[in-house]
Amino acid sequence: MKTSIQKLFSMSSVFFVAKLALVLLIPLCLLVYALAMPNKPAMTNKTEPKTEKSTDDLRSRLTPEQFYVTQEKGTERAFTGKYWNTKDPGKYYCVVCGAELFTSDSKFDSGCGWPSFDKAATDKVDTHVDKTHGMVRDEIVCHNCGAHLGHVFNDGPTATGLRYCVNSASLDFKAKDTKAEDSKK
Ligand SMILES: [Zn+2]
Repeated sequence: MKTSIQKLFSMSSVFFVAKLALVLLIPLCLLVYALAMPNKPAMTNKTEPKTEKSTDDLRSRLTPEQFYVTQEKGTERAFTGKYWNTKDPGKYYCVVCGAELFTSDSKFDSGCGWPSFDKAATDKVDTHVDKTHGMVRDEIVCHNCGAHLGHVFNDGPTATGLRYCVNSASLDFKAKDTKAEDSKK
């Protein structure tokens, strides 16, 4: 008699556990399914961002120094870059993707040996905190393709108070066509 009661008790507890598991499992499965759903279109969508360039493509298009500076966050030696002393009117574009980044109007002689600007084209240059080399600096990158450009400092001598210190290797300068403008006069 005692054993049959024990049996009954243990049987009912098995049913209880099984029922509980079912009751818990069904909402859990639904929750997991609901959470997994939004990821499905992203997993099937294989199109890459249009600004993403393959490393091989970049290595063949850029000089070793341009690759080192823009892709590996390198820094060219002071007073060695192509544009540190350029004073011609024109525009400076990203050497990787061609986005317009700076204009000669905002370029000034900082004496530091790198092209320096007091402002960047609106929304074209992003800043990130850079804690490498034992310093805390604001790294500047091309908003469009993420190419490393240099750093921005708060010690600029003009009204903006900013000094964008940019590697020549990150830039492609296109001089303003002054002859075309003169012929219009
Ligand atoms: Zn770019």
